[in-house]
Amino acid sequence: MKTIVVVGAGTMGNGIAHIFAMNNFEVHLVDISADALERAKKTIEKNLDRQVKKERITAEAKAQTLANLNTSTDMTAVVPKADLVIEAATENFELKIKIFKQLDELAPESTILATNTSSISITKIAAATKRADKVIGMHFFNPVPIMKLVEIINGYSTSKETSNTVVELAKKVGKVPVEANDYPGFAANRILIPMINEAIETLFEGVAGVQEIDTVMKLGMGHPMGPLQLADFIGLDVCLAIMEVLFEGFGDPKYAPCPLLVNMVSSGNLGIKSGAGFYDYSNGPKNAVVASQFAS
Ligand code: NAD
Repeated sequence: MKTIVVVGAGTMGNGIAHIFAMNNFEVHLVDISADALERAKKTIEKNLDRQVKKERITAEAKAQTLANLNTSTDMTAVVPKADLVIEAATENFELKIKIFKQLDELAPESTILATNTSSISITKIAAATKRADKVIGMHFFNPVPIMKLVEIINGYSTSKETSNTVVELAKKVGKVPVEANDYPGFAANRILIPMINEAIETLFEGVAGVQEIDTVMKLGMGHPMGPLQLADFIGLDVCLAIMEVLFEGFGDPKYAPCPLLVNMVSSGNLGIKSGAGFYDYSNGPKNAVVASQFAS
């Protein structure tokens, strides 16, 4: 494994490119948007500067990381060189199927095709290719350079060889891989998102307020962030989409999205990215206050 192509240069793609370039892989970051590539390069440089400042890496390591990083808007130019492709494009089923069909055409037969999807079936994505044994989930967490976990998701047809290779690779870039099988929500979101949904139900039913719920989980359970604050951070639209995947995938009413979550997404209150969710971010994330709808 030497050459890694990362497809999608958004929040996750730039972090994934960062860690592979820092570990001396030749990285090609691809996006349909030249602006997204520019933003990604700036973000990587800024994050590397922070690592230098904190003396986690040297200035030479920063320069080498940037030298290992290439960007392109043309997948056809770089995918034929890839030992591994990690797709981190927008979370949309049709888009991912289209990208994987293209990757399957362009990549050498031996190339492993991984996806960073949070909730789309790896088995369905794999079925769009002629190499289902070499398609796997590589689910990184945000912010990628900091979060240690990588959830490795084996699709129905993923070979043991593919998962062993990807597990070893995750370790090589300093991550802790955990394997899970391909069922709705995999392991991480199967546990996390219903917990967040239950916190929203607790608020919806008037059992406790926003700050009370978050304080219970922080001080009582040792969570670094309360579930409502975390929901705002993830994006309420993302939380809702994952609850819908669980509800549809299992057909079990215990996964029904809370009506308050549905209403908040319909009204455009999506959390930090829209300026308000359970908290109001008008004065920046560091000065968040409980949103007026939930203030007592
Ligand atoms: P994002 O919206 O920040 O970035 C997506 C990027 O994909 C954009 O720059 C867009 O231009 C690009 N893109 C769209 N179509 C493309 C195409 N055909 N070819 C190349 N690039 C294309 O999204 P994100 O938050 O980085 O999420 C990316 C993936 O990672 C999703 O599957 C998401 O579910 C998953 N994920 C996100 C998080 C998170 O916290 N944001 C965490 C884990 C997993």
